[in-house]
Amino acid sequence: MREIRLHDTRSDQLVQLRPRDTGRVGIYACGPTVYSRIHIGNARPYVVFSLLARFLAHEGYETTLVINITDVNDKIYDAARAQSRPSAELAAEMTAHYMADTETLGLGRPDHEPLASRTMGPIVDHIAALVESGHAYPAGGDVYFRVRSDEGYGSLSHRRLDDMDQGEDESGPHPPAERKEDPLDFALWKAHKPGEDTVWESPWGPGRPGWHIECSAMAEQFLGIGFDIHGGGSDLVFPHHENEAAQTRAARGQELARVWMHNGMIQFTGEKMAKSVGNIAPLHEVIERYGRDAVVMYLASGHYRQPLAFSPSELDDADRRVHRIRDALRRLESDRPSPPDMAQHKQAFFAALAEDFNTPKALGSLFEWVREANRRETGVGDADLREMLDVLGLGELTPVESVGDVAAIDPEAVALLEQRERARGERDFQTADRLRVQLRARGWEIRDGPAGPELIPAAGQ
Ligand SMILES: [Zn+2]
Repeated sequence: MREIRLHDTRSDQLVQLRPRDTGRVGIYACGPTVYSRIHIGNARPYVVFSLLARFLAHEGYETTLVINITDVNDKIYDAARAQSRPSAELAAEMTAHYMADTETLGLGRPDHEPLASRTMGPIVDHIAALVESGHAYPAGGDVYFRVRSDEGYGSLSHRRLDDMDQGEDESGPHPPAERKEDPLDFALWKAHKPGEDTVWESPWGPGRPGWHIECSAMAEQFLGIGFDIHGGGSDLVFPHHENEAAQTRAARGQELARVWMHNGMIQFTGEKMAKSVGNIAPLHEVIERYGRDAVVMYLASGHYRQPLAFSPSELDDADRRVHRIRDALRRLESDRPSPPDMAQHKQAFFAALAEDFNTPKALGSLFEWVREANRRETGVGDADLREMLDVLGLGELTPVESVGDVAAIDPEAVALLEQRERARGERDFQTADRLRVQLRARGWEIRDGPAGPELIPAAGQ
């Protein structure tokens, strides 16, 4: 097996992947809080950890990927109240949307997708273990984690206790000092408050769990303790992951995960963004506009640890890269082995993934392979390219077909293309953009060919 190294936030080093159970890798990644449709930023961890699981499966590991869904939360109560509807109904609707929106990414589903609302037994048990061992204390119907009782606290986020702030105090109308022993402490269980329309029983009275405890409970439920990779966005390192780690260490006497991986944030930049896509780009809208192939390519184009700029031109670039591959596929011999003297590029591709899952570097090697195949023109089998693409979730790309006469197949599409060119000529980019979306909905993509824009069949529809 290839040696795989990953960046671990706790040690701030690249560490060799040494699975707890030989041949198996368990991954837990924090999923969305379902109070609205998910945006491209929520899709990043979903895609990063889905692709990582694919790569590890390619390397011969049996993988288990768990991505939870937070369906009990202040944000959900607030959003439901603003819409005058039951919070459970809003959460169920947004969970269904999340499932459908991520489904269109075409990467398959995680092995387990637990909901906080259905994990109350394990959550309450975990809190009880913390209370029993003195790491937590009930106070006025809440239960708090006693941060100073955990010697390892701060070791994940590399913060000193004095520099910490648990962020928004979620204990409600009561001033925190009234219930907490120490301002550093955080809530494991929150007493029911008026206006909250969901409630669960517990030994400390009716209420609901804090956010951090649900992940400790769910991860342990599906992967046990000391599992291999815990993932999530870099915005979760503190306090969420620090608290998850503390809860498990304190209750079980062991570290929750061996490697902690964090993906960078999507950055919304550029003045055009606000008008064309909105500052928060809902995933379903981005996919509708650019197609899933371009969205997956875009997310694979940046190193997972780095921030990734989001703008129409970034998505256009990704779309062009997809097109280059589809164009190469047209000339390749399908289901045939690739020339052995091109195998170095494939090896470089997988070596890049093995070194902290460097997808941009891997794509560089993939395009080296494509360039070489294009140079040879004939007699190149597509097997190696397909193998690389499959790990990136792009294994189903279809070759570009030459359409002799689009006008004969879909005259209206040609009319739409002409309208778009006119709009572009008048610098009415909003209309031009809308027409492009309309064309995509009809199954056509616009390409700038040598003789001006042409229509080609859209991929991934
Ligand atoms: Zn979490």
